[in-house]
Amino acid sequence: MERIGLFGGTFDPVHVGHVVAAVDTHAALDLDRVLMVVAGDPWQKRDRVVAGATDRLALVEAAVADIEGVEACALEVERDGPSVTADTLVALAAPDRELFLVLGTDAVSNMPTWRRLEETRHLATLAIVERGGVGGVGPPGDGWHVEHVKIPQLDIASTDLRDRLGAGRPIDGLVPPAAVRVIRERGLYTDRR
Ligand code: ATP
Ligand code: MG
Repeated sequence: MERIGLFGGTFDPVHVGHVVAAVDTHAALDLDRVLMVVAGDPWQKRDRVVAGATDRLALVEAAVADIEGVEACALEVERDGPSVTADTLVALAAPDRELFLVLGTDAVSNMPTWRRLEETRHLATLAIVERGGVGGVGPPGDGWHVEHVKIPQLDIASTDLRDRLGAGRPIDGLVPPAAVRVIRERGLYTDRR
């Protein structure tokens, strides 16, 4: 069985908190690969997303290029319509694959708002990573397969990075250097809407 982690996000922009969550989940659950699934149309965040999907994908590709076992996934960027996790799990499901859905505790708390949540339950094991000291978060109902992954607590959020970039403050160290280069080359996040 191939063990694949799906770590979805807007990644607007990607930061080292995301990378550490992916890397440590890969190791802790002995996964073959972790796919960082860039949301093409994060329908719950439409009013807040700043960079386009292809730019956010390029940032994730740059951030994980040298990281063994972690890769960027373009499935949701290439698909039309709102990004729904159940669609992505169905697309990746195979008889010889076990899927793990990697989520920070804040994202787990938001799961009751997901589309086709019930279907999601049968498609993957939830891999919950603690974020912001918010522990004790469980699955949104009964019957879920759950793993908890302990990671270093890094108080970093894309929202803060967008604010920093908009204000001309540095992001070095918070965002992987290769992704910082892409942000600069493409002039992303300088023009706050
Ligand atoms: P925003 O501030 O725009 O919401 P974010 O930093 O929360 O951005 P997302 O793209 O919303 O990043 O999150 C994608 C996934 O990464 C979610 O499952 C979230 O819980 C997780 N995550 C984000 N930041 C961290 C962090 N610092 N540590 C652990 N997990 C994180
Ligand atoms: Mg978030």
